[in-house]
Amino acid sequence: MQRAIRQSVSTHPPRRRSTIRTKASERRRSALVRSTRIANGLCPTCGHGPPAFGYSICQKCRQYRLDRAAQKAFDRRVDYEMGLVFRGYRRSREIAEMLGLSHSQFKVYIRCGAIKSLKDPWRRIWVRLVDYVEFKKAWVRGVGLT
Ligand SMILES: [Zn+2]
Repeated sequence: MQRAIRQSVSTHPPRRRSTIRTKASERRRSALVRSTRIANGLCPTCGHGPPAFGYSICQKCRQYRLDRAAQKAFDRRVDYEMGLVFRGYRRSREIAEMLGLSHSQFKVYIRCGAIKSLKDPWRRIWVRLVDYVEFKKAWVRGVGLT
């Protein structure tokens, strides 16, 4: 039986601030993790099991990827049906402007959960257009906000 190559690289290192330098080292580290997993005959994405027959990744990761693609397609379709010109993500400052709020007040709404948002590694807040539509509905009804 082929001996498994020991993974000498940590899969979950402590979180560091993202800079150009750390991004390069992260890319090198993840390439090493992936190649080690492939050499061990494991799924390069999760490293838990062998890849599915005929595919490079395992069935669980494949399903996750398909689900995410379907969700993205759904979001795009919703954005299209709402007649929104800008699809995908908008800057929080733009949305605050559209709602007639100041950016700081808008951030308060995000903190209290009225608006769902996500942060990218550059600490910008982006709000999905679907969430914006939901927020606008709640705004018109006058509920969920204090
Ligand atoms: Zn996997």
